[in-house]
Amino acid sequence: MSDLPEYPHLALYIDGAWVGAENRHSHPVVNPATGETFAQLPLADAADLDLALASAERGFALWRQSSAEQRSAVLRGAATLLRQRGEAIARCAVREQGKAIAEARAEVAMSAALFDFYAEETKRLYGRLLVRPTGQRSMVTSEPIGVVAAFAPWNFPINNPARKLGGPIAAGCSVILKPAEEAPASAIAVVQALLDAGLPTGVVQLVFGVPDEVSRHLLASPVIRKMSFTGSTTVGRHLARLAADRTIRTTLELGGHAPVIIFDDADLERAVPLLAASKFRNAGQVCVSPTRFYVQEAIHDRFIAAFSERMRAIAVGDGLNPQTTMGPMANPRRPLAVSALVADAVSHGARLELGGEAAGEEGYFWRPTLLSDVPAAARIMQEEPFGPVAMTARFSTFDEVVEQANRLPYGLAAYAFTENGRRANLIADAIEAGMVAVNTTAIGAADAPFGGVKESGYGAEDGPEGVMACRVTKAIHLA
Ligand code: NAD
Repeated sequence: MSDLPEYPHLALYIDGAWVGAENRHSHPVVNPATGETFAQLPLADAADLDLALASAERGFALWRQSSAEQRSAVLRGAATLLRQRGEAIARCAVREQGKAIAEARAEVAMSAALFDFYAEETKRLYGRLLVRPTGQRSMVTSEPIGVVAAFAPWNFPINNPARKLGGPIAAGCSVILKPAEEAPASAIAVVQALLDAGLPTGVVQLVFGVPDEVSRHLLASPVIRKMSFTGSTTVGRHLARLAADRTIRTTLELGGHAPVIIFDDADLERAVPLLAASKFRNAGQVCVSPTRFYVQEAIHDRFIAAFSERMRAIAVGDGLNPQTTMGPMANPRRPLAVSALVADAVSHGARLELGGEAAGEEGYFWRPTLLSDVPAAARIMQEEPFGPVAMTARFSTFDEVVEQANRLPYGLAAYAFTENGRRANLIADAIEAGMVAVNTTAIGAADAPFGGVKESGYGAEDGPEGVMACRVTKAIHLA
């Protein structure tokens, strides 16, 4: 086993100061590779949240007056610092979340790229001048929406906080961020990079707490004008209801159940390595993870053979070991949930091709798992497995597979593989999803919107959309 990385002192950042345990309750931080608690995270109480709200209100009054150059310099500076500190940040992220170190490094790079993109995008906030009769003018402009309450989950402990902060900061808003209690040091590192790059006091508050207490407290406050949440559909709906009571604008990035459509003319030599890498990234705990593999009959068995071979090469282990290509799951809830879904699929007649069991003596490891010919009635074909499990089903016609792919209430990501250009266009149009990838698995990009449709949520992060989600329009009429 590798040496454990240095882990920072855990604290909340409220009204320009880092505050620690004192009399606060705390939450254990656990290494998913061992199950061992190695740190205690202080949790915000109601007084902390009130102070954060008041400070964020002052921060907004200040930041809404900032120039594009000021916002750009902070975001650019934070991107540079993230890259400089990347190795230490990545190692902390692995220790608290479990993913393979190469993936954590990639996450730092994604976050830096996003801040760099926003550093440019913040300079491109344009309005419209409407032509009117002589002596009159009307214009459409936009303004920052106000204080944003943002809730980020544990699966991308660096990049989720970066997403939640980048858009609002570029838009001229202040933010109260509550990242996941499971992986706090990664979020602290992102906030520290922004502060060291010159973000003024009040623009960011970082709180941890009992999730439902924090979200209820913040969303009941008239200070909050926008809420952004990434996580499960159930929690997203609950927060959307709270937000509706105060007519708070909402961005929801919720669960997915991504279909992967593999037509019989697909280039399997290209598709299989891409799909295996994407499926088992972060032990499958990715909202856009390829999940339901619909494979056209003629190549189904060939796909199973090639995909299984690729899966056998996955090295499961502690994410800090450089040989590891898949780490543990992030918490003990995940192997339990996956185990129940796999057992249910097998009881419905699915074939267990590989995996299907926990691995290792300690920690939350689960073997890469492949289920074939999984009936649509199995729970795993409806519920997001959020784990290292791929399922296949056969199809024969284009219309049939479109119906299957669109069958679920989710619509986040979808993938298709075909060498036929016309089919590629048709499938991209036919799938109900916020993001469709054809002959690739690269679905996230700093300059493109990331978000879903149907019960996968609404609104998007990244791209110009991520900035405009934090601005409101105003029409001004002059005569
Ligand atoms: P969960 O739904 O309990 O929590 C998901 C995230 O939401 C966590 O970070 C949690 O702290 C936060 N959360 C929970 N209740 C909250 C509340 N009332 N207010 C504010 N934040 C709240 O689930 P979990 O066991 O942590 O993860 C399991 C499921 O969550 C997965 O099956 C997956 O569907 C979903 N999930 C999705 C994403 C994503 O990227 N869309 C990320 C993580 C988890």
